[in-house]
Amino acid sequence: APAIVVVDEAYAEFRREGTGSALELLSEFPNLAVTRTMSKAFALAGGRLGYLAASEQFVDTLRVVRLPYHLSSVTQAVAHAALMHADVLLSQVATIRTERDALVSWLRSQTYQGTSLEVADSDANFVFFGRFEDRHAVWRGLLDQGVLIRESGPEGWLRVTVGTPTEMEAFKNALVKELGL
Ligand SMILES: *Cc1c(COP(=O)(O)O)cnc(C)c1O
Repeated sequence: APAIVVVDEAYAEFRREGTGSALELLSEFPNLAVTRTMSKAFALAGGRLGYLAASEQFVDTLRVVRLPYHLSSVTQAVAHAALMHADVLLSQVATIRTERDALVSWLRSQTYQGTSLEVADSDANFVFFGRFEDRHAVWRGLLDQGVLIRESGPEGWLRVTVGTPTEMEAFKNALVKELGL
C-alpha cells in the first residue's frame, strides 16, 4: 500500500495456535503499525489503554504529531505495573481459548432443523454461530433463561462471548432447550 497501514490486533492474544500476527511483518514494512489494547486479554478495559508497534521511523514521526499528555501519568504507571505482572493478568487467556475451541466444536456437532449449526472460526473471545430464520427469537429465548448473548453480526447469526466453564455450561443448556437440540 502506498500509505500507512494500521492492523488492529485487539484480540491477538486469543488467536489459535499457528495463527500469525502482523508484528512479524514490521521489519519488512516501515509503513505498518500494529495496534493492541489492554482492554481484552489483560482484562483492563477501565484503563483505556492501548499500544502500538511500528518501525522506529514510524514511531519517531508519531511522537512529533501526537497530542501532549494524551496518556496520563497514572495510566502509564498502570501500564507499567500491568506489564510487570503480565503473566498473572494474561492467565485467563489460556482458559478462554480452551473454552472457545470446545464451544466451537460443540456447536458444530449440533443438528438443528436437519443440518449442522454453522460456526465461524474464531481467534477472539467470542463465537459467531447460526443461521437462524429468526435470530431475535433465539436471542430472546436465551435471555428468558437468564443467558445474555449478542444479536450482532450478519443477518441470521448470533454472537456469544466466551466466559467461565460454568457460564458456558449455562449457555449450552439454554441453547439446547431453546432450539430443542
Ligand atoms: C476492544 C477493541 C479495541 C480497543 O478498545 P479500547 O478498549 O478502546 O482499547 C479496538 N478494536 C477492536 C476491534 C476492539 O474490539
